[in-house]
Amino acid sequence: MGKALIIGAGAVASVVAHKCCQNPDVFEEICIASRTRSKCEALKKELDGGRTKVETARVDADKVPELVQLIREVKPDIVINVALPYQDLTIMDACLETKADYLDTANYEPPETAHFEYKWQWDYRDRFEKAGVTAVLGSGFDPGVTGVFSAYAQKHYFDEIHSIDIVDANAGDHGYKFATNFNPEINIREVSAKGSYFENGKFIETEPMEIKRVYDLPQIGPKDIYLLHHEELESLALNMKGIKRIRFWMTFSQSYLDHLRALEDVGMTSIEPIEFEGKQIVPLQFLKAVLPDPSSLGPRTKGKTNIGCIFQGVKDGKERTYYVYNICDHQECYREVGSQAVAYTAGVPAMIGAMMVLTGKWKKAGVHNVEEFDPDPFMEAMNRCGLAWHEDFAPELIG
Ligand code: NDP
Repeated sequence: MGKALIIGAGAVASVVAHKCCQNPDVFEEICIASRTRSKCEALKKELDGGRTKVETARVDADKVPELVQLIREVKPDIVINVALPYQDLTIMDACLETKADYLDTANYEPPETAHFEYKWQWDYRDRFEKAGVTAVLGSGFDPGVTGVFSAYAQKHYFDEIHSIDIVDANAGDHGYKFATNFNPEINIREVSAKGSYFENGKFIETEPMEIKRVYDLPQIGPKDIYLLHHEELESLALNMKGIKRIRFWMTFSQSYLDHLRALEDVGMTSIEPIEFEGKQIVPLQFLKAVLPDPSSLGPRTKGKTNIGCIFQGVKDGKERTYYVYNICDHQECYREVGSQAVAYTAGVPAMIGAMMVLTGKWKKAGVHNVEEFDPDPFMEAMNRCGLAWHEDFAPELIG
């Protein structure tokens, strides 16, 4: 049916590539392109032998002309951006120029400020629409499936949704005192930023980790959950009609928080460059270099993730609640694709989103967040592709 160009060869890209190769009717060919070609080649070795033809290339995705040249050579139907959020705009520019459809899993971040906003990417709406090119923003798990869950709840269970609580729990244990489950730089920027939630038409800012609750998660048990800002709050606030409150919660262990606080206190999480032995270095990038590589956590991580959305609203004049969630087992993901569940839960929805575009179900010129599309074929594909979901019509609510 089609060809995908996957940009990036890290933890999430590896899952995307494996899952594309499990669906050769849709992904007849893939090309994996990243800064370090040897990583793409290593991935190709794992994947060769199936029906999907795998190519590799080297590209610096910060450079639009290099991307344009690569897209012209490879001729993909869709570009799946699973490099870093810093490359979103250059890759979107190249897709516009070559008229290739685009999909990513994280919103653009300027490297110099940890600032999470869709405004830079939403600025491309008119240009993509005029060019007849589809861009799907945020098709990982969160953002991604959380938006699909919201569209599904809206379509099937509610006349109006008044509140959404997104709960992202990871009860995995990798045996290290401190390590991040995905790119350490991106992860630490996210969790050390101020928190915020949406209420009655505006965003309310909190100090980092200021708001904490305990929630009893199916198959995981009671966990400390902390309120964070998360990028889907911005698009859901815009796209969910009648919404009054949206909050995002994530689990952190006390050990993770204690280490993070110490690293913050000594300045190791700063993104301000400093002078070190005659060279400019960014402390957070140095920290990344000494922390375990997230892709090495796969074989060591045991336990489960549970990510889902709890909705409150009304249907036919009556109050209603609904909880939809997915549970993934780190070891099962590792056995299937050689990655732990955090990369798995981000990579599978990226493949499904690309599948939706290639099969025409989500093909719509312009720049769109996932909740703007029909959720049903995506939800159906989740059950087939390793992300089965569960429903609870009387969930415990978060106070
Ligand atoms: P990794 O650090 O493991 O991989 C990033 C990859 O991008 C590497 O292969 C890296 O290449 C490549 N890359 C970086 N800069 C460039 C560049 N200028 N040109 C070409 N390639 C480049 O990250 P992850 O796989 O953990 O994360 C990938 C993306 O997924 C991130 O944007 C992250 O925010 C997102 N994500 C989304 C989630 C969701 O649920 N929505 C959850 C988890 C992650 P090299 O190794 O050569 O530097």
